[in-house]
Amino acid sequence: MTTTSATDDVLARARQRATPLRRALIAWFAREQRELPWRATRDPYAILVSELMLQQTRVDVVIPYFERFMQRFPDARTLAAAPEAAVLAAWSGLGYYRRARFLQAAAHAIVDEHRGAFPRSHDAILTLPGVGPYTAGAIASIAFGLPVPLVDGNVARVLARWFALDGDQRSSADQKRLWAIADALVDAANPGDFNQSLMELGACICTPRAPRCSSCPVARECDAKKLGDPERFPAAKPRKATIDVRLAVLAVFDAKRRIGLVRRAAGTRMEGMLDLPGLEIAADDDAASELARHARSAFRIDARTLELAGRARHTITHHRIAIEVWTATLGNGTSAKGSSVREPAPLGIAARPDAAGLTFWDPARLRAEGVANLAGKALRIVGIAHARHA
Ligand code: SF4
Repeated sequence: MTTTSATDDVLARARQRATPLRRALIAWFAREQRELPWRATRDPYAILVSELMLQQTRVDVVIPYFERFMQRFPDARTLAAAPEAAVLAAWSGLGYYRRARFLQAAAHAIVDEHRGAFPRSHDAILTLPGVGPYTAGAIASIAFGLPVPLVDGNVARVLARWFALDGDQRSSADQKRLWAIADALVDAANPGDFNQSLMELGACICTPRAPRCSSCPVARECDAKKLGDPERFPAAKPRKATIDVRLAVLAVFDAKRRIGLVRRAAGTRMEGMLDLPGLEIAADDDAASELARHARSAFRIDARTLELAGRARHTITHHRIAIEVWTATLGNGTSAKGSSVREPAPLGIAARPDAAGLTFWDPARLRAEGVANLAGKALRIVGIAHARHA
């Protein structure tokens, strides 16, 4: 818990060191910064796209997505006018699809509420959907040169080390203190480069493990280095226990070798993405029976025999998922690999493909669709390489 006098003390130290820190950091950034596509522009829309993509995703993964996305949706008007499915397809493989929806909602707000012009004030930027204080700080300082601070995970770590701050820095009082420190430090003459250099230092030098203090441009100003154990700051957050999940999914083909997929429901994770039907099962369940029962009740598919096509693993946050992919073929009473599958019930999928939320897709058409990452792995097992997972 941070006391007022502790905050006053650290703010005083921050103001004292602001000038040498800014000078050393910006000079280092000018020499050493990585060439990244979003750094070649001051376009606030491009910076917004990059910042949303970079949330919880590595830079090297984001680069090709960013370049493709900017080619396909070069400005807010184009993005606002695009079908949501096309936006999700362009995002497919990046994960955390809420970000894609927020991005399109922000584009709508720019078009509808700001006549297509990106808002220029920090407060107005903050009102855009999906834009929190960090992203607003990045856009305002980099695109518009406004002297506003930003704090993300990298910046929080760097500040905690510069000033040897105790605690894990996630409590609201500690967060408030970090923002106050960042505000005291931001360079009014060059806020965009200062903020980017702070983030770059955290990403490349002052890393969570084994910070490269001997290459650090601000080592002389760093309290954690002086104390001899920089990794001690900030305190490690307690890890969530891993949860093991067993998931059985069904790759069901029709007679034309089209695959049956469901669209994830509103309000669920990866809403709107295509997915394989399936269910979570217990460790000692008979996967084939459980899946057959599910196929019958949810989709009216009477699959008496299913065949195991393969297994995959997938991790989402602290969930470790073991996936089993089972296949069946509909149409002539024979499954893909010779197993027996009865024709569907009268109202079954052969007669009304959309009746129970299952739609059959030609694999080639999937390239234009957003497919959940986990489903992408399962599809590969049955020989379908979605474009984003190829
Ligand atoms: S001296 Fe080390 S701990 Fe301090 S900011 Fe630089 S890299 Fe981080």
